[in-house]
Amino acid sequence: MTDYNKILERAGLRPTDAREAVLETLYRIGRPASHGEVAEALRGELDRVTIYRNLYLLEEAGLAHKVQGVDGKWRFCAHDPDVVGCPGDHSHFLCLSCGKMICLLGQALPHVDVPDGVKVQGKQLVVYGLCPECSRDRQK
Ligand SMILES: [Zn+2]
Ligand SMILES: [Zn+2]
Ligand SMILES: [Zn+2]
Repeated sequence: MTDYNKILERAGLRPTDAREAVLETLYRIGRPASHGEVAEALRGELDRVTIYRNLYLLEEAGLAHKVQGVDGKWRFCAHDPDVVGCPGDHSHFLCLSCGKMICLLGQALPHVDVPDGVKVQGKQLVVYGLCPECSRDRQK
């Protein structure tokens, strides 16, 4: 069993019920989840503002990655080399039909040269198309 409080403490965050619930939910969903998907999984246990705040807090503490799909939604996936086996920031795939995003864990983001003086604040690579289920449905 995963001890979410220990993960929070290791990242320098004081464990609270809300933080534990949001982190546990990211692990349970097991793929990048949007604010709405986390809220749905928590079935009204936490209000939307609290969920929103805690997702960003977890990301800032290095316990989650955030990535935006071409549908404009930000999604969050859990980060922990010991539990998720995630070595670092990685590429993602978004299905345009069902909206499911998956982590491509083994695939690091490519190196990108930027001009001198540029301050990089994030990097992402999202491949999109149809997931195996949706692509099978289209062929019927
Ligand atoms: Zn990670
Ligand atoms: Zn799909
Ligand atoms: Zn991911």
